[in-house]
Amino acid sequence: MTSSFSSLPLSPATLANLQQLGYEAMTPIQAASLPVALAGKDLIAQAKTGSGKTAAFALALLAKLNPRWFAVQALVLCPTRELADQVTVEIRRLARAADNIKVVTLCGGIALRGQRASLEHGAHIVVGTPGRIMDHLERGYLTLEGLNTLVLDEADRMLDMGFFDDIATVVKQAPKERQTLLFSATYPEGIEKLARQFMREPQQIKIDAPAAESTIEQRFYEVNRTNRLETVGLLLNHFRPVSTLAFCNTKQQCKDLVTLLQAQGFSALALYGELEQRERDQVLAQFANRSCSVLVATDVASRGLDITQLEAVINVDITPDPEVHVHRIGRTGRAGASGLALSLASMNEMGAVGKIEQYQNAPSVWFKREDLPPTGSGRLLPPMVSLQLLGGRKEKIRPGDVLGALTSTEGGEAYTREQIGKIQVTEFCTFVAVDRSIAQAACAKLNAGKVKGKSVKVRVM
Ligand code: ADP
Ligand code: MG
Repeated sequence: MTSSFSSLPLSPATLANLQQLGYEAMTPIQAASLPVALAGKDLIAQAKTGSGKTAAFALALLAKLNPRWFAVQALVLCPTRELADQVTVEIRRLARAADNIKVVTLCGGIALRGQRASLEHGAHIVVGTPGRIMDHLERGYLTLEGLNTLVLDEADRMLDMGFFDDIATVVKQAPKERQTLLFSATYPEGIEKLARQFMREPQQIKIDAPAAESTIEQRFYEVNRTNRLETVGLLLNHFRPVSTLAFCNTKQQCKDLVTLLQAQGFSALALYGELEQRERDQVLAQFANRSCSVLVATDVASRGLDITQLEAVINVDITPDPEVHVHRIGRTGRAGASGLALSLASMNEMGAVGKIEQYQNAPSVWFKREDLPPTGSGRLLPPMVSLQLLGGRKEKIRPGDVLGALTSTEGGEAYTREQIGKIQVTEFCTFVAVDRSIAQAACAKLNAGKVKGKSVKVRVM
């Protein structure tokens, strides 16, 4: 595969512009996806952050654009305002080659009126967040009749933020005859659902991050029946991971460990089979948004769990199946980050440890319980706190509504996007993570104010 931009059907002006920008060669995801995208085909492209995905779709949509026709011909959906702004900047730089291409950014937090005026002046390309785009569509400020390229950028994050329904609403207003390009850093289940509903025989392209980038450090500790569970607390206070997934072999062990950790002042929750769906949703929401330090789970219960940031995995019990062991520890150290895999083994688990060594073709490295002094100052606390709003999809609440209520200047301090974490809308309630330092005040602000024009009940979880 050649990596020169000149191998692509791009105009000489575009090629000259790329050279001016210092884009000497295509990045791997660009080399793999641009030929497909420029041929007009639907595409699902997966590559890590910083790999040049923006140019991969921007060059494709620009190549098709007719500057003399004043209609929105391309729409890029992004999860946040910051990302939409970045995409707009990159598209403008790449569009310099052609004359007068208008790119308009439509995101929340900015008056609708000004955005409406920008649209009225003629926009070729719209970049924005699903909620705000929906607002413009509903009011008739924006129409997608002339659209020929739809881009879902950072699709995994949009799904993470609960935008599936909003995306669906927007896409339904786009012409059926169009090209759809989906970009994502990871490939959670929801992506397939998006592809099935909104794409036509998409070609899938995946650029793997080099294997060396994820490093998992494995440490084994010898324990006995009486000190096994309390060793978990020692590990947590010593390594102080923000998020830890602790595996037990039985449901009873999960319950016992969570009881002990909670008594020791840790923020810990259990996940095992037989939890009601509603309880399971609550537990997962709190762990995924970093407002719970430790999730204690059985292997079965943790299946399908997709948590991207996981600093540590603890094998509270050694699994008799070495394949399961590798699967467990592989959940940490993802996406270029380093991870810690800590395993507790008693004398009668040494056979299972031996099988793991054979399977991994590497000896286990042992450390001592005595060498786990507490580090840092004070209790290990999660950085975020979850607020639960009584009201969800049934009440038509969208992540943007909650974000809007928290960042608005009315009824108290206006919080910044950085103080607000994941917002997850479920059927009947909504979870929003906020910085620990603002939890009580943010809860009071939401309780006193309105979300989606209505009063809501909110509690700190
Ligand atoms: P991603 O969306 O995959 O996270 P971006 O599209 O934001 O990545 O690109 C990351 C950076 O790489 C940007 O600053 C962009 O300008 C730059 N870049 C993209 N393609 C090239 C290229 N072919 N050569 C040099 N720099 C590039
Ligand atoms: Mg990107």
